[in-house]
Amino acid sequence: MSRSVTLIPGDGIGPSITDATVRLLDAARADITWDRQLAGAAAVAAVNDPLPAVTLDSIRRTKLALKGPLETALGKGFRSINVALRQAFDLYANVRPAKTVLTGLKFTGVDLVLVRENTEGLYIGIENYIKIGDDPMAAAQSMAVVTRFGSERIIRYAFEYARANGRRKLTLVHKANILKYSQGLFLEVGRAVAKEYAGVIQCEEKIVDACAMELVMRPERFDVIVTTNLFGDILSDLTSGLVGGLGLTPGANIGKDVAIFEAVHGTAPDIAGKGIANPTAVMLAACQLLDHMDERPLAVRVRGAIERTLRDRKSVTADIGGTATTEEYTDAVIANLGAP
Ligand code: NAD
Repeated sequence: MSRSVTLIPGDGIGPSITDATVRLLDAARADITWDRQLAGAAAVAAVNDPLPAVTLDSIRRTKLALKGPLETALGKGFRSINVALRQAFDLYANVRPAKTVLTGLKFTGVDLVLVRENTEGLYIGIENYIKIGDDPMAAAQSMAVVTRFGSERIIRYAFEYARANGRRKLTLVHKANILKYSQGLFLEVGRAVAKEYAGVIQCEEKIVDACAMELVMRPERFDVIVTTNLFGDILSDLTSGLVGGLGLTPGANIGKDVAIFEAVHGTAPDIAGKGIANPTAVMLAACQLLDHMDERPLAVRVRGAIERTLRDRKSVTADIGGTATTEEYTDAVIANLGAP
């Protein structure tokens, strides 16, 4: 039976790269019925609401969404739609794979998955200024909250992900040497969970700064990494850089009931409307969606076609050194699908 998936085309380059992805999945005969909904600037233009109730209802119903990037207005008082979606569906795990496909990069043999806690830590948004003397903004403070519940669920998710995907090692990344309470709790919970997987998944601990250095010295030695929100945010862009940049890396936002898949890059306003955006990240996000739907053979086939096209380099987009348009690249990926 066809599975319904909410499709949010997004803003800027979003519609063109999500269209390309839908075209690829149709060509691969994925049995998906897309429920198209608006969010972000496109929704503001259409219904004057960046996150319409009908979009939320659709995601609640389908439990799955593929999302293009959304424009977030800068400044105080504006809620990021991405954060709002994360909160609305308690999407606690952000899963970003980074794998070397292109040749000629500085790094080779990278094949890792970064699992970032998506709901707590320093990103809970509790901040304030402290007035000293005449200066109302003499100091500022931001609170980081790490809970036993949140730590256990993300670390367990990472171990289960490692087990389900045939991965052997998990690196627990923290800063417990300095942040003894919040990071200390995360580490303590990690050690306890790791014991349950002894003999199945090897667990190592790394302090975040040492981890950053090692990621750029010997990235090939990492397998699955799990860490708290801020460190995960920073390290996951670093790991994108190891494999050719944001145009190539997908991300899944996973909750207990709902999962939303997207590219990690933004709306790329500088190239929007030019037909030259690289749709690879959204295409790989769609492969994560297929994995999540238990359509693994199809995911392997689509990933294989994307990787072949990137390795050929005959028909790739400008951001990775080619001259192909979004459409031409998509045609090449479809041609590389081969027979089912
Ligand atoms: P960006 O990722 O949109 O662009 C950074 C650079 O990378 C630009 O030069 C852009 O042309 C290039 N780029 C990005 N994706 C590309 C692709 N697929 N193909 C070719 N080149 C690509 O980051 P930004 O400019 O900082 O942000 C623009 C907007 O996107 C902002 O409103 C921001 O809030 C939003 N944003 C949304 C998401 C999301 O929805 N998940 C994520 C990040 C940024």
